[in-house]
Amino acid sequence: MRRKTIPFLRLALIYLLVLTGVHGIAGAKISTGSNAHHDLSISLFPGKSELEGRDRIRIEQAERGSVAFFLSPRARIHSVRIDGREHPYTFSRGRLALNPDRSESTLNVNLNLHYTCRFDDPVPVRPENTDNPGFGVSGTISALGTFILSGAGWYPQMADARESFKLHVDGPADTVAVTGGRLLGIERQDTRTISRWRIDNPLEGLSLSAGPYVVEQQTLNGMTAATYFFMENQQLAPRYLESSLRYLKRYSDLFGTYPFDGFAVVENFFPTGYGFPAYTLMGGRVLRLPFIPETSLPHEIVHNWWGNGVLVDFASGNWCEGLTSYTSDYLNKEQASPDAAADYRRQALRNYASLVSPATDFPLSRFQSRTDPATKAVGYDKSAMVFHMLRKEVGDAAFWAALRDLYRNFLFKRASWKDLRQIFEHHAGRSLKVFSGSGSNDRVPRTYDWKLSARNRAAMDTGRPAA
Ligand SMILES: [Zn+2]
Repeated sequence: MRRKTIPFLRLALIYLLVLTGVHGIAGAKISTGSNAHHDLSISLFPGKSELEGRDRIRIEQAERGSVAFFLSPRARIHSVRIDGREHPYTFSRGRLALNPDRSESTLNVNLNLHYTCRFDDPVPVRPENTDNPGFGVSGTISALGTFILSGAGWYPQMADARESFKLHVDGPADTVAVTGGRLLGIERQDTRTISRWRIDNPLEGLSLSAGPYVVEQQTLNGMTAATYFFMENQQLAPRYLESSLRYLKRYSDLFGTYPFDGFAVVENFFPTGYGFPAYTLMGGRVLRLPFIPETSLPHEIVHNWWGNGVLVDFASGNWCEGLTSYTSDYLNKEQASPDAAADYRRQALRNYASLVSPATDFPLSRFQSRTDPATKAVGYDKSAMVFHMLRKEVGDAAFWAALRDLYRNFLFKRASWKDLRQIFEHHAGRSLKVFSGSGSNDRVPRTYDWKLSARNRAAMDTGRPAA
């Protein structure tokens, strides 16, 4: 069964016209007790925008039933073998199903799958949509680099199974591949370079980047940070490594132990600001901006707790951008000075007052991702200020204790606004129903009171009536 893909955007901050925060993510799977252990070899051929995949999959099913994988609808299947013999299958709209009539034979088997697939989405090197320039690109393999989102189906994903991967990516000489997991090694041969990775249970799927990266690593206090930068930006590595390690330590102390093996900053060959589990992917122009290591970088690092650690239950709205903005962007200002913190809050109010009209306003329960300045002002700015109001309401001790509880109880599980409310109520020792509103959808902080005060305060801040 094809897994639902919910792309959502992650804004770091609005920086000039180049930076976006975008996050592509596949819906987390609910395991039925089946396991799939992949030994996956991917060969990249940038000259023809193609990859060749050979996957040996050990399938362990909890009970008899058909076996299905999601693979890009653009893939060509060359062979499907089970325990060495050709096996009947169907492949339609990206769903590869092993013959259900012989389902009993797939209970505990070794599947060998050979396929090729072309990924050639046009890349916005000079984007027209500066709000979100990478939007719409799900996969591209080119001489400049390789970028493929998890939802693009570059490898077979078994429906409803717990999966683990030994991944081996080979490409033209000096091509280093990166994904969210543990790097086992890079091996340079005559004309090809091989990157080996180990990934256990990637709940949200795997994205892949590759290019002529220079890799730097640094370990401190048991945490490892890495940079995968192109040669021309290599001088930036020490600054990014130092900042990454400092913020990993800070947020581990604040919320609980960092949930992945390491964290990497990876350069992309076109403008993006993605935050994936255990790494962030940013365009080179963005990386060179001098303030990014203290702004976008901590924002993307915090997403490893909120969004990629504690997962979002999108049915009740995406709360993770507001909480990430509040606990990275805002908290940094607060730690700098009270004035800087007040400026940040004023700017959030101004954004909401000037960018959101009654016609474009909507409750936080409907926020999924940022698509334009108005959705950003609601899903990031207003949402962050709701967390600020909540902190004022329950007090510092309860606020930070609730966030630690949220992380401990919901790591790698989906949490909704209602789950957040219950945790904050537990720590506040009282109902927060009045705070969160009691309208038709009482799971979500209401917009209206906040909107009124935002408009009034923004008018006061700017000395002119709010738009
Ligand atoms: Zn974000």
